Amino acid sequence: MRARHLSTYGVSVKAAVCREFAAPLVIEDVELANPGPGEVQISLRASAVCHSDITYADGGWGGQIPAVYGHEAAGIVTEVGAGVTRVVAGAPVVVTLVRSCGTCANCARQLSVSCEASFALDAQTPLRDAHGNALLQGMRTGAFAEAVVVHESQIVGLPPGVPFDSAALLACGVITGFGAVTRTAHMPRGSTVAVVGCGGVGLNAVQAASLEGAEQVIAIDTSAAKGDAAISFGATHAINAMTTEPVEAVRDLTCGRGVDFVFVTVGAKSAFDQSYAMLAKGGAVVLVGMPANGALTSFDPGELANNSQRLLGSKMGAANIAVDIQRLVSLYQQGKIKLDELISGKFALADINEAMDGVRRGEALRNVIVFP
Ligand SMILES: [Zn+2]
Ligand SMILES: [Zn+2]
Repeated sequence: MRARHLSTYGVSVKAAVCREFAAPLVIEDVELANPGPGEVQISLRASAVCHSDITYADGGWGGQIPAVYGHEAAGIVTEVGAGVTRVVAGAPVVVTLVRSCGTCANCARQLSVSCEASFALDAQTPLRDAHGNALLQGMRTGAFAEAVVVHESQIVGLPPGVPFDSAALLACGVITGFGAVTRTAHMPRGSTVAVVGCGGVGLNAVQAASLEGAEQVIAIDTSAAKGDAAISFGATHAINAMTTEPVEAVRDLTCGRGVDFVFVTVGAKSAFDQSYAMLAKGGAVVLVGMPANGALTSFDPGELANNSQRLLGSKMGAANIAVDIQRLVSLYQQGKIKLDELISGKFALADINEAMDGVRRGEALRNVIVFP
């Protein structure tokens, strides 16, 4: 990992640095490079803790350290690099990890989350520590810090008056849960749905399925509290997987038929293993949650073919961030979707390890780091 040239460093900011996997993050003063061409510097107001941050920090996906994680953020643009046309300094924005060129083969077919282009920020991190050593910009964002420098394609403007802590959630958890239903599954109205896992992503799959006219939305989690939350987000049934066998329960609730769509929003291997057994003929399993490296599951290909069933992967809800975030903000402003209710706790950056532990224990929907 290479750091940018010395002369390009602009500001010193506090950041939570991962120096060792599965150890607490360390709050340090780090240096953030000035935005280069096409790049934007944002002073963050809120940065949410996602399960992906935890998997990285615990070493589940490997990768380079030292690193600054955090990729679900919102704040105010403070400086723009040469050639930036989408925003000006002072604009409130959501900051995402989706960095896209708009013209490669995947961007051209509306799959910007799988953009094939490479960017200056991919080759040179904008972060270095107090000793001048490069720090990885985790998940292309590095948002466990007071400020970030990202490519302008990674931001979406916010209308005035949307709270930053709620807006931050749009950057990953909300678009992932919604997009799995609307973009990956193209769920028809009247479908029956099971959502496995009712955290920040799962609850959004629940509210998307409900909003898009699912006839039955069965929420499954090992926490009774998250099951209750799912009901308030529009689920018709909640199954506590600690006390009830979920496959049998889904079959019972659907007269033995199974559901048209199963959305697996957690990274637990057992969830993938069970998902296929809940599926109706002609249905699809949508794989959204991402397990640690090395997890495998199996299915019977003959049965899959004979039943016309599908397995669909969904990265970041296959989102088109500009379109999807603007639509979600509009739905939030009309009171048609819940965002504020997804926030379990607000923490100062200095208390980030406490915020992460709450997510590890499965207690939190979303814990958010807020900046003064
Ligand atoms: Zn995330
Ligand atoms: Zn592209």
